[in-house]
Amino acid sequence: SQKALIIGSGIAGIASAIRLAVKGFQVEVFEANDYPGGKLSQIEKDGYRFDAGPSLFTLPEQVEELFKLAGRKTEDHFQYLKLPVACHYFWEDGKTIKAYADIDKLSEEVERELDEPADNVRDSLEKSRFIYEHLAPLFMHKSLHKLSTWTHPEAMKSYLKMGKLGIFQTMDEANKRQFDNPKLVQLFNRYATYNGSNPYETPATLNIIPHLEFNIGAFFPKKGMHDITLSLYKLAQDLGVKFNFGQKVEEILVENKKAVGIKINGEIIHGDLVVNNMDMVNAYKTILKKQKQPKRLLNQPKSSSALIFYWGIERVFPELDLHNILFSDNYLEEFDHIFHKKEPYRDPTVYINITSTYKPDDAPKDCMNWFTMINVPNNQGQDWEKIINEARKNIIHKVNRILKTDIEPLIAVEEILDPRTIEIKTSSAQGALYGNSSNNKFSAFLRHANFSSDIKDLYFCGGSVHPGGGIPLCLLSAKIMTEMID
Ligand code: FAD
Repeated sequence: SQKALIIGSGIAGIASAIRLAVKGFQVEVFEANDYPGGKLSQIEKDGYRFDAGPSLFTLPEQVEELFKLAGRKTEDHFQYLKLPVACHYFWEDGKTIKAYADIDKLSEEVERELDEPADNVRDSLEKSRFIYEHLAPLFMHKSLHKLSTWTHPEAMKSYLKMGKLGIFQTMDEANKRQFDNPKLVQLFNRYATYNGSNPYETPATLNIIPHLEFNIGAFFPKKGMHDITLSLYKLAQDLGVKFNFGQKVEEILVENKKAVGIKINGEIIHGDLVVNNMDMVNAYKTILKKQKQPKRLLNQPKSSSALIFYWGIERVFPELDLHNILFSDNYLEEFDHIFHKKEPYRDPTVYINITSTYKPDDAPKDCMNWFTMINVPNNQGQDWEKIINEARKNIIHKVNRILKTDIEPLIAVEEILDPRTIEIKTSSAQGALYGNSSNNKFSAFLRHANFSSDIKDLYFCGGSVHPGGGIPLCLLSAKIMTEMID
């Protein structure tokens, strides 16, 4: 059988390995780290377990599809539940909203707490569904770089609906038209951060995202997010995929415009095709440095990054859920700081993810594991030590004000992840979480294709190529890519 070499065991690399193994390829994965999963990994310390990167699980069908392809029953290998509350929102003035999965309950809550007509929420989620139904078949499930995509009947249907797809206004403009209460505008503007973009610049097309969270649902893997990595890694191994850890690929070998193998520690490994899961900007700087550089694509602005404090907290806060947001009082200023001033805002929106609410063994008894995150600019050489010190103080003040507590003495364990360490651990350019940002209407077209147009048998998957970052899109990149291979 033919041999496929995969560079990187991020979630898209693992999904590609599974799909190629199912197609009958002999597959080998080469991973620089000594663990699989890239950003989707975990941290364990002093009785606490933290999911290191992604915390929100949407479109679980993309994971299920991999088990099905391999002839397995998902529930025998990977279990997850639908969250009754997607997120618990808090504001400085004491207002709180529980974003119920049940849309009637959500609309009632919003009407009662924020005086927002329930129909505004229902109507907004219908618009979101409309965008999803018209764009997902085109932008998420197919290559944008093949003519057949553009002449497909689904594409023709979408062209006719162009005006309703939000391309000509920003997310913030659309949400201001949709909602009366500025708190709800803020709540729906937050979805821009799901792919590291700025709601005041990104097209309203990204209002597609609430459809995933509300109309389809927010989910939680019963053993934590890291179980997405572990269960798919195990599935790949069961299918005969060979993983090599601590193996940093130095070069993709090309002969006569065809990928023929890779080089590691000076040693050559031959293959019939090569799949790259490494971030494309850094790939062109290193393993593809001898090849023609697609400068325009590589120079696109990157998404935002994150500063995370993994805190072991020695108390249980019953008012906190799995996903919690403590909103900034000035969202516009916050994004202006992140995307233009290139520094975090002094009153940041604080996201607290607590898996011990659903998985008690993630923290010792009467304690909680707080993944405390703020959005920050990607790394452009800022003084991160100073930024981290100031942000830590600002976060603690905010938590103290909103939860009426004194959090610092309760922090028993602390680990920190910042844009620099994200890049070191996963090779993502500038520590961006989601590859390119989507801050303009052409972003979707300025991601790298899933194949090389110059080099035969060279393919690409992961958050820095089409269709983009985030677990579901990374899994779809593997699908689009492998469907091109015979
Ligand atoms: P990556 O995870 O980027 O992994 C790439 C792998 O390639 C790494 O393991 C790296 O070591 C390896 N590699 C690189 N170069 C080489 C080389 N030369 N040789 C060998 N191996 C190499 N997504 C969501 O869906 N929901 C969320 O809630 C969410 N939150 C996030 C929060 C944080 C803090 C972060 C960091 C990300 C978040 N994301 C979220 C985004 C999501 O994690 C990513 O989009 C996704 O995991 C990226 O997967 P990937 O396949 O592109 O590979």
